Amino acid sequence: MNNTSYIEISKKAYLNNIKFLQKVVGKQTKICSVIKGNAYGHGYANIIPLAEDCGIRHFSVFSAFEAMQAYPFLSAKSQLIVLGYITNDQLEWVIENNIEFYVYNLQILQSAIGIAKKKKITAKIHIELETGLNRIGIDLEYFDELIHTIQENRKFVEVIALCTHFAGAESIANYHRVKNQLILFKKYHKYYLSKGIVPEMLHTASSSAALIYPETRFDMVRIGIAQYGYWPTQEVLISRYNKFGDQECSLKRVISWKTEIMEIKAVKRGVFIGYGNSFQASRDMLIAIIPVGYNNGYSRSLSNRGHVLIHGKRVDILGVVTMNTISVNITYLRDVRIGDEVVLIGNQLKNKISVASFGEMSNYLNYQVLARLPDNIPRYVVD
Ligand SMILES: *Cc1c(COP(=O)(O)O)cnc(C)c1O
Repeated sequence: MNNTSYIEISKKAYLNNIKFLQKVVGKQTKICSVIKGNAYGHGYANIIPLAEDCGIRHFSVFSAFEAMQAYPFLSAKSQLIVLGYITNDQLEWVIENNIEFYVYNLQILQSAIGIAKKKKITAKIHIELETGLNRIGIDLEYFDELIHTIQENRKFVEVIALCTHFAGAESIANYHRVKNQLILFKKYHKYYLSKGIVPEMLHTASSSAALIYPETRFDMVRIGIAQYGYWPTQEVLISRYNKFGDQECSLKRVISWKTEIMEIKAVKRGVFIGYGNSFQASRDMLIAIIPVGYNNGYSRSLSNRGHVLIHGKRVDILGVVTMNTISVNITYLRDVRIGDEVVLIGNQLKNKISVASFGEMSNYLNYQVLARLPDNIPRYVVD
């Protein structure tokens, strides 16, 4: 092993997910693969070629910094979009490399025009409209100035899209807020059209909206978490399940995270295991030490409550997750050896550990666990 653990990326699961998602959104709607955060921990180098094999031609990242990391893996037929942060010194690189980017205030637009003029090229922009998330997105009061600036500089800016982002389509609690955002978005679109700004496309939906609100799909959907095989929340899954049943709910986890046992030890009843006194052996026990800890992205909050798979059986974590190790209870297993496979996330024989079962009830944790997987864990694509 090049590290103390490794990650497998299942090509089969990924293809399944894209096929399913494309069926859900329809052929006329493009899928933009959201690959921020090192492709949600899966690795740019692995996910980009897989996605391109599935016919995906649009990718998005959060920042210019991420764009620089992902760019080398993209083929010429693919388009990269920066959804967020670009510093002034990075903007030139972005525009020169034909990367599209969100314009969410006038200042970005003006800097972009300045660079495009100097280089005699065109900046390709997605105008992010503020519709109620109240994060980034250009406010109504600046529309006219923005439109005017674009009109004056037609040669240097091309409006690829109008877009917005919903305030939590993954929860029914936000239903009215999302509906209102959609109404505003359509109204603003009409306004831009009336002023002669005709975008090539409209996009608003992330995974949740794309899965449950057909009217948000427009020309393109920005799919992050779902392509990696996770439902944004249980609510989204239940909502689809109630409408369409089993077949329409076939996302498969792409990642597996594995390592092996580094040490086995017999401990006596009454001793404390690991740092401090959070776990005391209630009988003579056999424990295995696993070389993965919070330094490797294994959350400390799983102390005394997480599980791993060994010999296809689910075993408990004993004591606290340390920086580099966890200890698990193998008292009830037979013939366990140093070097035996340990599954942290994934399947082993008939059992599995999903990311969501990492303790907390909330699926929001999916995003966090994935994003925290360190870049230096080696990742391999498997069939
Ligand atoms: C992260 C992000 C997405 C993807 O969200 P998922 O819930 O992972 O599908 C889409 N759009 C924007 C603007 C984002 O920041």
